[in-house]
Amino acid sequence: MRIIDAHTHPVFMHDGATPAAARRLVAHGRAHGIVKMVALGDVLVHGRLPSAAQCRRINDETAQLKRWHPDYFIGFCCLNPTLGARAVEREVERCVTQHGFRGIKLEISNNARDACMGAVMAAARRWNLIVLQHTWSQTNIHQRRFHSDPADTAWLARRHPDVSVIMAHLTGCGYRGVLEAKGLPNLFVDTSGAFPEAEILDFAVQELGAERILYGSDLPIRETSVTVGRVLGAHLTAAQRHLILHDNAAKLFRL
Ligand SMILES: [Zn+2]
Repeated sequence: MRIIDAHTHPVFMHDGATPAAARRLVAHGRAHGIVKMVALGDVLVHGRLPSAAQCRRINDETAQLKRWHPDYFIGFCCLNPTLGARAVEREVERCVTQHGFRGIKLEISNNARDACMGAVMAAARRWNLIVLQHTWSQTNIHQRRFHSDPADTAWLARRHPDVSVIMAHLTGCGYRGVLEAKGLPNLFVDTSGAFPEAEILDFAVQELGAERILYGSDLPIRETSVTVGRVLGAHLTAAQRHLILHDNAAKLFRL
């Protein structure tokens, strides 16, 4: 079984930024069949509104992991869109041209519908990058001013049909989130978020098709055996499992 993990934080709250820790993480991944990981960065280490310098530091740590294990890590550029178009453009260009990053990671600096996202999506289009948006159902959280609900991430994908968007956290998005994601071929959902819950992945495959779902763990917040288990425990065909665990990500990231 070959697996691509589309959602990891190899450096998390400063942990994991040493060569020995990176080696341990790669060995842990390989032991579980993970052949590649998307490294999204230590996204909340400086709070929800990192400065330009703090974004650079987060992205430099991801770049360092890539240098240590170039065949293993795929880098995503962590941004704070509220810093404005020039800051966004500058950091994306730096991450792509100097570090070979393949995507943009958005956390909770702003809602996915905010006007500042225009520059982010323009940069994604210009550099052919995938946009991964942290998403969680806001029905009970009430932070929608800066925290994206599935309806907001779906709105972003609908508005930019030429950019591939990943709606993070299937379990956090819930059944309603799956329904919000319908009818948008450029919108993918990753399987991370919260504890495994029976039936939700089965429901997502039934409503969206297995082609729209990517395996993601949110490592080290969630354990790999548990996050792989949530896919193996769903009622899927072998072909659907392969798409979710590997083939969809290989195609999306042009591996
Ligand atoms: Zn995450």
